[in-house]
Amino acid sequence: MAKKRKAGKASRSTKRASSILTPDALAFMERYLNNPSPTGFETEGQKLWLDYIRPYVDSYLVDPYGTVVGVINPEAKYKVVIEAHADEISWFVHYITKEGFIYVRRNGGSDHMIAPSKRVNIYTEKGIVKAVFGWPAIHVRTGKNDPVPSTDNIFLDCGCGSKEEVEKLGVHVGCVVTFEDEFMVLNGKHFTGRALDNRMGGFMIAQVARLLNEEKAKLPFGLYITNSVQEEVGLRGAEMIVERIRPDVAIVTDVTHDTQTPMMSKVQSGDIACGKGPVLSYAPAVHNNVLKHIIGTATAQGIPFQRLAASRATGTDTDAFAYGAAGVPSALISLPLRYMHTTVETVHRDDVENVIRLIHASVKALKAGQDMRYFK
Ligand SMILES: [Zn+2]
Repeated sequence: MAKKRKAGKASRSTKRASSILTPDALAFMERYLNNPSPTGFETEGQKLWLDYIRPYVDSYLVDPYGTVVGVINPEAKYKVVIEAHADEISWFVHYITKEGFIYVRRNGGSDHMIAPSKRVNIYTEKGIVKAVFGWPAIHVRTGKNDPVPSTDNIFLDCGCGSKEEVEKLGVHVGCVVTFEDEFMVLNGKHFTGRALDNRMGGFMIAQVARLLNEEKAKLPFGLYITNSVQEEVGLRGAEMIVERIRPDVAIVTDVTHDTQTPMMSKVQSGDIACGKGPVLSYAPAVHNNVLKHIIGTATAQGIPFQRLAASRATGTDTDAFAYGAAGVPSALISLPLRYMHTTVETVHRDDVENVIRLIHASVKALKAGQDMRYFK
């Protein structure tokens, strides 16, 4: 989810068996999550994702900026998109001091508050360079006028004593930086790690492709399983791909805030809980007939869901689909998530499964040529 303007082994440490989250699926999930995919530099993650879905689709396309679309029934006239975004927030190397410290710039909504004492990977042509966000010790802070982390004062230390030494490692202005991987499972039922926003989405739409393939479903329309780049900097990948596909319907998935943890406000962000099911948003960009279709499907299938009202935009690729290509009837199915844009983003595995089930069932219940207009 874009910030609006204004390693444990999952397959081993997860106890419960599940019809959708098979050991193979969980192994792919962990591999996909542990692969960095910074905004603008998503290629390796996209290749990994494409390799996984290729057996489940008839064809695929890759657009110039790296959005990947797996297509089932490419000849069909009526086109349905299911979509997630592939990119993750990160930092850019911005300024290297003569003493060898590195200042950074945000690439997406990276959180400066959590940066001090984090370990990072700097991606260079010579490979990964390790570094840490340093911070003055508690002993030397007075309590009065203590520094508060901001992009003006957080800095990286990669163990070098000069700018020349930093450059020798291959680090230059524009190198991209992510926090280290820390995927794990909490209490057998929560997946925790970096950038579940929104690679969990890429994982979930890939599972829909797998399920359709395994059950040999014959869809009467074209299904475009779309993993867009550059969501975190303003829904850019979706803005591009909606024009290329020009779909008739789009179902987007992303994460949304769980509001049950300390210091979250239900007044501000609604009453949403991990474990209580997919979240369906109401917003002008969300097409009421597509939403009705999804709610009808959830009810028929007994899939639990929660409701959320968005003010103006949803802040997800739904907006780009809705307002692109002369208007695409679109809806949003969100995965509740705790601690968004930190390294410990946390979701409930039941929700992951239910989002997959809901997208899968909603797609199967669509008819070719289904006219979503409010009236004629
Ligand atoms: Zn996000």
